[in-house]
Amino acid sequence: MSHPHPELGAPPKLPKGGLRVTPLGGLGEIGRNMTVFEYEGRLLIVDCGVLFPEEEQPGVDLILPDFTTLVDRLDDVEAIVLTHGHEDHIGGVPYLLRLKPDIPLIGSKLTLALIEAKLQEHRIRPYTLEVAEGRREDVGPFDCEFVAVNHSIPDALAVAIRTPAGLAVHTGDFKMDQLPMDGRLTDLHAFARLSEEGIDLLLSDSTNAEVPGFVPAERDISNVLRGVFANARKRIIVASFASHIHRVQQILDAAHEHGRKVAFVGRSMVRNMGIARDLGYLRVPSGLVVDVKTLDDLPDDKVVLICTGSQGEPMAALSRMANRDHQIRIVQGDTVILASSLIPGNENAVYRVINGLSRWGRTSSTRATPRSMSRATPRPANCCTSTTSASRRT
Ligand SMILES: [Zn+2]
Repeated sequence: MSHPHPELGAPPKLPKGGLRVTPLGGLGEIGRNMTVFEYEGRLLIVDCGVLFPEEEQPGVDLILPDFTTLVDRLDDVEAIVLTHGHEDHIGGVPYLLRLKPDIPLIGSKLTLALIEAKLQEHRIRPYTLEVAEGRREDVGPFDCEFVAVNHSIPDALAVAIRTPAGLAVHTGDFKMDQLPMDGRLTDLHAFARLSEEGIDLLLSDSTNAEVPGFVPAERDISNVLRGVFANARKRIIVASFASHIHRVQQILDAAHEHGRKVAFVGRSMVRNMGIARDLGYLRVPSGLVVDVKTLDDLPDDKVVLICTGSQGEPMAALSRMANRDHQIRIVQGDTVILASSLIPGNENAVYRVINGLSRWGRTSSTRATPRSMSRATPRPANCCTSTTSASRRT
């Protein structure tokens, strides 16, 4: 990788008792979050995510943080703290552990389950330490305290890192949803307590954090979904993130209410929802979820498919359906719901998918996000409706 500022040279030697914080990715971009804390020669890594390529980067599968500065110092790494299970926070871990598989991973129950499943595909069995909010752990010279934060994936944590150099707080991604689906609020009391102690460095970043106002509640989306389900006459195909367990829960609930069966489509969706169900983060009424292979035996108005591809990712199930490159064929009368906010930068890819879907089935394509709920009303099956909103990543 070419260095953007070769004239700067290597940073100065770390003064005794000083804390150095080095972001290796995630600043000025949505993805590959990774921050390294250094104290007295020891390193603590917070998150190790991937960035997904843009359309002008053909042939690129994933973009990793720049590990160059770490390669010669892997023995100095105490652990990797993972704040939550999104790909842009854990997706790079297999590539770092390939260099040194025994670096311990620290995270919540769900976060560790998601990364362990991913590492299994890379044939790596990691050393892990499960933590929860309120827990405090010494990780080498780093005294780490974990704080609950609400996010679009359950079980997210912020981490307060104490060293003799001071108190640094890394919030991870967070939302301020006051009525979260799982009742787990961002712990403002803990942040207030930390601020009373005296935070020397606050690292805080969340997609669309610069947009003023309140984030809509995740549970508000259920009314949008119910409206679409009530009016759909044939199959319903919902695209969402494979990690958006709360959103998938609401789709399952709507399907159950309307007497439809649900099949998960796509490897990451099937894997993650299996984990979420096993660990109790996803409530699935018995008999609701069926294998995709059995769908042909059901009438169209009894079927819901939940797949990936809400951001127009070219290899995701929905994009492949739009390209007629998937076993599931979109036909006239199907309703397609893009059940996640449009992440800035993905506009072209998403509209390409919507165009493709419309071509095959004159499909009613509805974007259902909390902020667009008043606009995301179902339309006749022969028109393509897409309402997008630049709301926070919800
Ligand atoms: Zn996130």
